Amino acid sequence: MSTLFEKIIAGELPATVVHRDARVTAFLDIRPAAPVHILIVPNKVIPTADDLTDEDESLVGHMMLVARDLARQHGIAKSGYRLIVNCNPDSGQEVYHLHLHLLGGRPLGPLLQRTSA
Ligand code: AMP
Repeated sequence: MSTLFEKIIAGELPATVVHRDARVTAFLDIRPAAPVHILIVPNKVIPTADDLTDEDESLVGHMMLVARDLARQHGIAKSGYRLIVNCNPDSGQEVYHLHLHLLGGRPLGPLLQRTSA
């Protein structure tokens, strides 16, 4: 069964795609947590960051550079942004197809609430 994001990459599920190339697809998050909230997703399925292999090194670098370019295009490079990758249940990962969140367009506040470690 294909993941939700595979369907978006294949064009079988609607999404606002803001970047597409041979290795990654980027589209707007359906429930944005900030004025700019973009997901950068590898075209091949990698369920979590824990499933990355050494062969994925350049893919991960490419995801970061696509995020940099999208931040510039959306006018948040200088004001600032946050890149997040959730991995497995404690992170709250909902979709098991690796994705990089690009968030910005307002002050984002502290990274995490400081509760007992
Ligand atoms: P995560 O919790 O890191 O797995 O993030 C999954 C993200 O996917 C959430 O921010 C969701 O709002 C987003 N999402 C879920 N379904 C869709 C969809 N059909 N199109 C765009 N974003 C989605």
